[in-house]
Amino acid sequence: MKKFDPSVAIHDFLVFGEFGDVNPSITDSSTFTFLSTDRMSEIFEHEIEGCFLYSRHWNPINKYLSDTLARFEDTESAQVTASGMGAINCAIMQLCNAGDEIVSSHTIYGGTYALFKNFLPKFNIKVNFVDITNLEEVKKAVTDKTKVIYCETISNPLLEIADIPNLSKIAKSSNAKLVVDNTFAPMVVTPARLGADVVIHSMTKYINGTSDCVAGCICSTKEFISSLNDVNSGASMLLGTVLDSTRAASILKNIHSLHLRMQKHSGNAMYMASEFEKLGIKTYYPGFKTHKGHSLLKSMMNDGFGYSGIVAIDLLDEDKANKLMEMMQMEKVGYLAVSLGYFKTLFSAPSHSTSSEIPEEEQAKIGLGKGLIRFSFGLDNNINEIFERIKGCMKKLEIV
Ligand SMILES: *Cc1c(COP(=O)(O)O)cnc(C)c1O
Repeated sequence: MKKFDPSVAIHDFLVFGEFGDVNPSITDSSTFTFLSTDRMSEIFEHEIEGCFLYSRHWNPINKYLSDTLARFEDTESAQVTASGMGAINCAIMQLCNAGDEIVSSHTIYGGTYALFKNFLPKFNIKVNFVDITNLEEVKKAVTDKTKVIYCETISNPLLEIADIPNLSKIAKSSNAKLVVDNTFAPMVVTPARLGADVVIHSMTKYINGTSDCVAGCICSTKEFISSLNDVNSGASMLLGTVLDSTRAASILKNIHSLHLRMQKHSGNAMYMASEFEKLGIKTYYPGFKTHKGHSLLKSMMNDGFGYSGIVAIDLLDEDKANKLMEMMQMEKVGYLAVSLGYFKTLFSAPSHSTSSEIPEEEQAKIGLGKGLIRFSFGLDNNINEIFERIKGCMKKLEIV
């Protein structure tokens, strides 16, 4: 397959504002005028290129950002949403009816897990959770009611890798759609080129990169994105997950530095993971040859963006993990906070934060220990010094 560089794909997409502005104007209107009544009824019937009706449906700046994201994920079309959960909800609600089933990885973002486990049953949508790295188990879980196979490219928080090409084959042979949450691996992997039908991001994380808003997107075929926007039956139109236009404008600017940020996040993560391992700490990082998804990720990766910036370490002791995190914040390593993809380092214990929705016995089954700390490494230019600070904290707590 021809090599793909998402950063070039978006860089080559020139947009012009109303007056040739290099950054298109922020849409500051909820509604749009029509010169004729005919035109108005026409757009209620079908989309007309360059014509806008009402901002929850489409507005110019959200369209610019969506078009950029479609190029970025190499899909025909895309749709921005008010959050990552908004994107997941819209995609799932559009694809599934009452009585349908989903086969989902059991290591997914805590919010998605709670949605699948606690909320979808209200609508009689059943989710079968599987170990997504076990393709036989996935095949067995698929029934004639399965409409969606759901996974994350790099999963939260144990950094397992989904075999997108083979999952796509399973989905195709059973008439289901493969939906991939690519939040942890923007630039690194382009799931649609590997067979994913729908690609989702929480743009709150890497794509925006400044931890100042929540936002999401759905990238897919023109047909699917149009169906989301149908005024009578579209999930995005009817559930009302529209992204605020001011935010769309700022994300559109931030995405243009994403390639540089991913390189730095990945480089810093690789350095830290290697140093942790040298200290004898149990470390999870897909950049390691010893990581069980390493060669799979390598076979799916775009060149030049590394293995992303998330590293997990297991201290096998909850108390020590908690003390270490508090101490690291005091020593200015970064912030004790959930989320990821920020320019500063963020760390938290997934067991009682981002994955706390997953019941304890399930956590134990998937290997999510209470002493596990997830790091999202920042853009620090003095990463060796930051490591020395962490090592200092570990020594004080007699972890090393
Ligand atoms: C944060 C996150 C989400 C949810 O996104 P929001 O923008 O917080 O709604 C979904 N999937 C993954 C992998 C995430 O990290």
